[in-house]
Amino acid sequence: MIDSEIDKLKGFMPKHEGIALTKWSEKFSSIGPIMEIGSYCGKSAIYLSKGAILNDQLVYTIDHHFGSEEHQIKEEYFDSEIFDYKNQRVNTLPLLIKNINKIQVKNIVPIVSNSVDIASKWDAKLGMVFIDGGHSFKAANNDYVSWSTKIKKNGALVIHDIFENPDEGGQAPFEIFQKALKNNFEVYERVDTLACLIKN
Ligand code: SAH
Ligand code: MG
Repeated sequence: MIDSEIDKLKGFMPKHEGIALTKWSEKFSSIGPIMEIGSYCGKSAIYLSKGAILNDQLVYTIDHHFGSEEHQIKEEYFDSEIFDYKNQRVNTLPLLIKNINKIQVKNIVPIVSNSVDIASKWDAKLGMVFIDGGHSFKAANNDYVSWSTKIKKNGALVIHDIFENPDEGGQAPFEIFQKALKNNFEVYERVDTLACLIKN
């Protein structure tokens, strides 16, 4: 799928950041598979799959598909198109399936569960982890703690929605970014709110 088509899919990944995801995914999938936390409707996973396929590598993507706090009814990012009125819940899984069926090469592996539950049972070391799940401090920190240990040396940790200025956005992704820098990660590249860190 070409970038302008991916850009039309529902999601929270602007094109310039998506293109960076593809580039980093190509580089770091040579080290191991890619893990995404927060599939939503598959937009970022499809950018990741474009890079990973060049190394014949998989992109795992985890989401319980109940949406984050801000996607719930009456909240800022509520979207009636992904609300299941019959069951009175957000459900992004049908649109994820529809979107990944549009790509030619099937290297995306959706995992329908809570990210922390999967982490506790996950053994395989990863080339890159992309954290874009819940944005409360607790959720982001849980994802950082659970998944950063599963990245191979010289692999990457990518974090989305980093806002240094609290007026521009929530601070949880920025806090885990800073935490990673105090641990064994250093910045490889930064594109707008998206940071790619290398594990030393
Ligand atoms: N990466 C997507 C956007 C993700 S939005 C894109 O760029 O388009 C964040 C997603 O994280 C939501 O779909 C929500 O359901 C999911 N999420 C939040 N907390 C989670 C958790 N603990 N486990 C699994 N998924 C979670
Ligand atoms: Mg995001």
